[in-house]
Amino acid sequence: MHIINPATEEVIQEIAEDTTESIQKKYKIIQEGQVAWAAVPLEKRIAAIEKFYNFLDEEKDTLAVDLTREVGKPLQQSYNELNGARQRIQYFIKNSARWLAEEWITEEDATREKIVYEPLGIIANISAWNYPYLVGVNVFVPALIGGNGVLYKPSEYATITGLHIQRLLYRAGIPENIFQVVIGKGPAGQALLDLPLDGYFFTGSYRTGKYIAEQTAGKLVPVQLELGGKDPLYVMDDVDDVSAVAAAALDGAVYNTGQSCCAVERIYVHEKIYDQFIDVFVSEAKKLVTGNPLDKATGIGPVSRKEQIALLKEQVEDAVAKGGKVLSGGGPLSGRGYFFVPTVVVNVSHDMKLMTDESFGPVIGIQKVKDDREAVKLMKDTPYGLTAAVYSKSYDRAENVMKQMDTGTVYWNCCDRVSAALPWSGRKNSGLGATLSYHGIRAFVQPKAYHLRG
Ligand code: NAD
Repeated sequence: MHIINPATEEVIQEIAEDTTESIQKKYKIIQEGQVAWAAVPLEKRIAAIEKFYNFLDEEKDTLAVDLTREVGKPLQQSYNELNGARQRIQYFIKNSARWLAEEWITEEDATREKIVYEPLGIIANISAWNYPYLVGVNVFVPALIGGNGVLYKPSEYATITGLHIQRLLYRAGIPENIFQVVIGKGPAGQALLDLPLDGYFFTGSYRTGKYIAEQTAGKLVPVQLELGGKDPLYVMDDVDDVSAVAAAALDGAVYNTGQSCCAVERIYVHEKIYDQFIDVFVSEAKKLVTGNPLDKATGIGPVSRKEQIALLKEQVEDAVAKGGKVLSGGGPLSGRGYFFVPTVVVNVSHDMKLMTDESFGPVIGIQKVKDDREAVKLMKDTPYGLTAAVYSKSYDRAENVMKQMDTGTVYWNCCDRVSAALPWSGRKNSGLGATLSYHGIRAFVQPKAYHLRG
């Protein structure tokens, strides 16, 4: 497999892909270790994860540069990701014992009752490339703490990072017969679906997620899916500082070059402040520097995958053909690398792909609305249900909108944010099940009910 730097299109490394046979072998290795791992006292499992947490900091310079070379995100954002991943790990370190402890339900009666949380067994962690540390730790950290064995398949676009993760986990004392990286593309993922695993935890596109759910349905094991979105942001007419909101919305749209599952993907602005909002938004968008992600001044790196350039181009062209007006950017940069200039399109409608299909890049459509009712109608007009954001001075007015959203997450005066203490979940085509928070600790164990007499 060739690992390509999306900023230069150079091959940075060649890595051998796993075969079906080598993946079966890795599964057998973990089969030998998982029961013993589950018997290791919880505090020792947590202590190993704590070492991993420290190593991520110790090696952050190497890890950040490799992440940027592999997926193209601006270097500071690679550091931010490592930092964010460490915060999530810290949450698991601090909170797992509480949520994995046995629970006495009845201690006084003749029949005493308790719940004991047992690991699922051996799980697959099939992961995405856009935040390989963040979406990885959501799964393999609580899974390992919970006593499971993990077959971790990083995205083929984040393989170097996946190998770093494995190396640092081993260095931290996670046994080789409990964690194995599976290297490869779709066929490697398919080989995992063909194994009799005890759970499938997937982060990626709706298309692949749905396929995995269908393929694994007959196994009757937990399947969790963290999928894409078309997340709306609505700016009400009562916001105090239109410029600050425009800057926040822009950051939510283009951070990580727009490749966040919870990126702001479409914006609705109340007609009373629309012109002012557009002025600031467009002038800020024009200031963004697109280029070499290793340069400090760069705000927008390349998109990670070549095919995405064609998709973004098509969305912008479709919008323009239907009456959309491009106010900044508009297309790819010429020369080497998968660069797309941050693009703002107005005069948009839901007849355009730009407003209905996930873009996953630095392009955004902004639509004028006359009131909250129209905004809610448009915000809800999507098969996705990951997040929705509202900016307003009034909590009551914002709450009225948030309550109507069929999404796993809602934001008031913020956007594009994840908290380790809150469940991360998508509804409808955005996913199934939750990671993070205590839900994301319990997701990797199964309850056993004890009925005790005597
Ligand atoms: P993808 O679906 O192309 O790939 C995801 C993973 O699935 C990769 O590891 C890939 O190799 C594997 N895969 C591909 N075909 C497979 C098959 N047939 N069987 C098993 N595995 C297979 O997604 P991607 O491009 O890596 O990620 C981008 C998508 O992920 C976006 O839609 C984004 O919104 C979503 N995402 C969601 C979240 C979330 O938390 N909801 C987080 C990050 C990314």
